[in-house]
Amino acid sequence: MTWDDEYDVVVAGSGAGAMAGAFAAASGGLRTAVLEKTDLLGGTSAYSGSAIWLPGTRVQARAGIGDSAESARTYLRALLGDGTAAHREAFLETAPELVDFLERDPAIEFEWRAFPDYFDAPGRLDMGRSFVPLDLPVERLGDLAGLVRPPVDRDRAGRGHSAKPMAQGRALIGRLLLALTATGNGTVRTGTALTGLVVEDGRVTGVRAVTADGPVRLRASRGVLLAAGGFESSAALRGERGVPGGAEWTMAPGGANTGDAIAAAVRIGAATGLLDQAWFCPGLLAPDGRPAFTLGFRGGLIVDGSGRRFANESLPYDQMGRRMAAAQGPFHLVFDARSGGLPAISVPPLVPDDQLASGAWVRADTLAELAARIGLPADALTATVERFNGFAEKGVDEDFHRGEDPYDRYFSGGGSCLAAVDRPPYYAAKVVLSDLGTKGGLRTDPDGRVLDGSGRPVPGLYAAGNTSASFTGPVYPGPGIPIATAMAFAYRAVQEIRR
Ligand code: FAD
Repeated sequence: MTWDDEYDVVVAGSGAGAMAGAFAAASGGLRTAVLEKTDLLGGTSAYSGSAIWLPGTRVQARAGIGDSAESARTYLRALLGDGTAAHREAFLETAPELVDFLERDPAIEFEWRAFPDYFDAPGRLDMGRSFVPLDLPVERLGDLAGLVRPPVDRDRAGRGHSAKPMAQGRALIGRLLLALTATGNGTVRTGTALTGLVVEDGRVTGVRAVTADGPVRLRASRGVLLAAGGFESSAALRGERGVPGGAEWTMAPGGANTGDAIAAAVRIGAATGLLDQAWFCPGLLAPDGRPAFTLGFRGGLIVDGSGRRFANESLPYDQMGRRMAAAQGPFHLVFDARSGGLPAISVPPLVPDDQLASGAWVRADTLAELAARIGLPADALTATVERFNGFAEKGVDEDFHRGEDPYDRYFSGGGSCLAAVDRPPYYAAKVVLSDLGTKGGLRTDPDGRVLDGSGRPVPGLYAAGNTSASFTGPVYPGPGIPIATAMAFAYRAVQEIRR
């Protein structure tokens, strides 16, 4: 076999799992290459809030919040049962070790941030257990800064980073990039898309990839880690697998995550699971037709195609998304002048005037007029809003229990999240079923080894993040689970590679 370049470990993708795995491999002395299909590192991870749900670590201990692996186990077990207990235990065991490892590097530091767990279940921490990386001054990255994918609004507009410190997902990717670079063993190859896996004598020994200069074959003498996102941006695969929502409505960066790594592994016999699942969320349509991930509803109500409410709008976003998948659209958020703008948080932030000019939002002086403008029966919408306003007055949502859970009230500072919609003008905003990525993919064992159809590890092949089937199944337990699990299983894969 002839190779264009030789490494010990090749990592496909550059999200949080990929970068954590690459850093772990390189810091252990392995020559490591990160292959990234686009020109920018970080994928959806860079867009994220970078909440990280790794329980029972030094970060929660520093914050004095009384978290532990035991309470996290109780919580996960209550939500997921014991069907994926081996993965759960591996995850819990790895969390403190991973954080110790990461924070040993001078580039990486985290702090706990209040954000409630998503379910009322034993072991829940009402103020949450997830943490975030500290902001990162752009200057610390020097020339590397331009490699990190900017926040979603700037990225969609083709703009780079502002002069402000990198925050959230950008800080996480930037910090991991600094740490990887400092090992002296890491190579980052942007504009390099994995297209296939090379198998010799039953073992994965390298990858095929395409670059602007043509195809390359790269050796990975110790292992290949696939962490190249899910297939959220492939309309064809979503249709085939029945993932609700749409490729045009995913929050993942423009078209990159099309399931290439999953397909490459399937071609050599890897097994898959959970392929109809995603990390769902409501998305408000922006003027460019892309969605804005929307959460934390403090006011307004969401109606379905018949003008009726169908769920507690303040539910954690994945649960709200699942209610949307079971309901009949089109969906609209109806709100009024009371909050002086959107009564929720959207990523990216939306500019009301632009929304109105584009038609993504409409405005009217009466509910009947608003209903006519969005094609709903006026009596149905008016009745829904009147009933909702009655609940707001009583402070009790008799239909969907909005406001009864600490999560619902978190975004209104612990106060009520039920506010009457009665101050004209009224607004209706188009809402679509969006997602933060698919969560089905390659089946792996608790050490990140990709399994074949008979449950045996494919030698030399590992997967993490949305390229792999999540052990959380159709459940999104708390803020930071996607990134935490991606990092933990990438780290475990590298420990396995090093053994
Ligand atoms: P990605 O981060 O998308 O990385 C995949 C990378 O692989 C991309 O860069 C892509 O270009 C590259 N790639 C694709 N195909 C190939 C190929 N053939 N070859 C090489 N490279 C390839 N999750 C949390 O845990 N905490 C949060 O706070 C949080 N907040 C979020 C906020 C927003 C606004 C959004 C959009 C998401 C958020 N999420 C959060 C969800 C989370 O960001 C994603 O689910 C997770 O980051 C996915 O990680 P990944 O590594 O699987 O994929």
